[in-house]
Amino acid sequence: MLTVEKFAEKAVLKPSSYPHCIQYHELDVTRGCSVKCIYCSLEYFSEGVQRVDVNLEELEKQIQTLKDEGTFNGIYLSPNTDAFSKICADTTHEILEYFLPKGVAFMLTTKSIIPQKTIQLLAKYPDQLLVKISLSYADQELLKYVEPGSASATDRLKTMKALVEAGIEKVQALLIPLFPGVDDDKEKITALIDKIKETGVRLIKAQFVVIREREKPKDIAIINKMKNHPELKKSWELMTETIKIQVGGGQILPREKRFDFYKMMYQICSDRGMIFAACCVLDSALYDSIDEKSNLYVKINHDDFPICNYHHFLPDQLKK
Ligand code: SF4
Repeated sequence: MLTVEKFAEKAVLKPSSYPHCIQYHELDVTRGCSVKCIYCSLEYFSEGVQRVDVNLEELEKQIQTLKDEGTFNGIYLSPNTDAFSKICADTTHEILEYFLPKGVAFMLTTKSIIPQKTIQLLAKYPDQLLVKISLSYADQELLKYVEPGSASATDRLKTMKALVEAGIEKVQALLIPLFPGVDDDKEKITALIDKIKETGVRLIKAQFVVIREREKPKDIAIINKMKNHPELKKSWELMTETIKIQVGGGQILPREKRFDFYKMMYQICSDRGMIFAACCVLDSALYDSIDEKSNLYVKINHDDFPICNYHHFLPDQLKK
């Protein structure tokens, strides 16, 4: 959910920031994000959070143009904000209400509660949806520190359950981003996966946090927030590898330890009949597994654990 570009005042579809794995056009419904995750590298929070001007007819024209060019697969709501935070949940509902009946596919990502009326709407179009609910920590105190404007773990689990009960098959739990030494403990992560399993969600994706280490005040503030928290301080000390990713780079847990964790996750999820994939958006070491020769951007099986192949999760109509 992290890019560094600022928004236009008017909502427009933009090409994917992660073309190696996400093939939807991006649409942000606010400028700034009220969730205010401490690890987020977006740099405009001091300007406050504002809704952007969403003109449905203009968006429809833009979609038609993209379709004519053969480049439109669907809409990713929202890479740089939370589409269901209170400030924009109604706007998001209107967008879905307008475009779902027209056959547009959506990938939705949130740390908020999806309102019941929206779940009822989504229930009519299950084949056009991939809904990703982010939940990395069941510890409510840590959750409030790390993602202060987000819904509680309990509410996010309820949202997962409601989506599954509404008949939406492609609901994915995002254990992203994980703080090393805090969230990757086997017992803790197993307990979280068991809670997710109880909701009926079967798709799990995980990835470690990347924190930029630069002289910019925003980056210094993020690191200080980690250093000032007894558990996250431990995390920061473990993040000794520097990594480059699609949208910048920063400090991360060393590769060997990340891969050991992904292997463990694969085992825990497989034992429970759940589908695990490591996510390569913040972990460029996983690009080594990209199979250029196959028609897929990312191959399904890494030697020791699966990495995300979005084709695996895409609505059927988008599979090529
Ligand atoms: S939800 Fe968190 S990570 Fe995503 S854009 Fe908002 S503040 Fe950043």
